[in-house]
Amino acid sequence: MRTNEKLHSLGEFGLIRQIQQQAGDAEHLVLGIGDDCAIQQQDSSQELLTSTDLLIEGVHFNRQWIGMEELGRKSVAVNVSDVAAMGGTPKSLFLAVACPAEISVAELEALIAGFLAETAAYGAILAGGDTCRSSGPLMISVTVQGTVPKGKAIRRSGARPGDNIYVSGCLGDSALALEMLQQGRLPDESLLKRHHTPKARVALGQFLSARQLASAMLDVSDGLLADLQHILDASGVGAEIELACLPLSEAFAGELKSAPQLIDLALAGGEDYELLFASSEQNLASTEGIELPLTRIGRICPERELTIRRADRSIYRCARGGYDHFA
Ligand code: ADP
Ligand code: MG
Repeated sequence: MRTNEKLHSLGEFGLIRQIQQQAGDAEHLVLGIGDDCAIQQQDSSQELLTSTDLLIEGVHFNRQWIGMEELGRKSVAVNVSDVAAMGGTPKSLFLAVACPAEISVAELEALIAGFLAETAAYGAILAGGDTCRSSGPLMISVTVQGTVPKGKAIRRSGARPGDNIYVSGCLGDSALALEMLQQGRLPDESLLKRHHTPKARVALGQFLSARQLASAMLDVSDGLLADLQHILDASGVGAEIELACLPLSEAFAGELKSAPQLIDLALAGGEDYELLFASSEQNLASTEGIELPLTRIGRICPERELTIRRADRSIYRCARGGYDHFA
């Protein structure tokens, strides 16, 4: 399906910018449109984080490939990931669901069971929502609220030249699983898991926020390059990424051997839900009590460009763009 030309040239982020320019300010709003969560003043010690996400059948998921329980889990994780990206603690979730006529009660029960299990895994609770009929696809809208100690939320805008760029976990697994499913191939179990049941990196976000180790952060949902560009735009800086440093899983590295172009999935595939952050720390390979590996993949530069370098310092150009709903 092709969206209309005007929307296509404006793009998802152009449209968001237009909305942002018209939305205005309010005194209770510490930070509005433009980051992973909005920040509102809660009391003298805490701030309230809020984020909302839509999952539409045929756009974000395909019921042939993902089970309903997994879909319930994923709906929670991708939303909570935005609270993790600010260094916050998820508290309450709201679930709105629009059900097509042919969906069974058993399927919806599985969706809710997965949603509740994943919500509980983050120590949060389902606190409300909305339920209605859909004349088209299954649609799931999730809103999450969380808290963060006042002034400790990690925004996209604080990256400074000389900061190192780190990413948690591995990149590209989810996008590789999706590409294989689209080609009619069955991905490795570990790749499938990364695509169907990603985990929000809440403990890592809290750790970085509590110790003020990150100058800027977000979660990788649209692809490493597109999301890094959001940090660069918000911070008014550029970056250099080292291709050889990208953290890859064994399963991904295995596929890469026979198809080197797959590296573009690690750069631009999306749905990794890892945390990407800038830090003035030189050696942040691991963090006490957090098992997730951290990898330094590049550094922040003053020139407002995003460059990817091979090991021999030559420039690599990624053939894929990041995810844009209208592009
Ligand atoms: P993320 O990938 O972290 O979920 P998005 O790229 O979806 O973030 O959104 C970027 C910013 O734009 C967020 O602050 C989000 O709240 C805001 N935003 C997106 N769509 C809309 C909209 N239709 N109205 C108001 N704000 C929006
Ligand atoms: Mg995000």
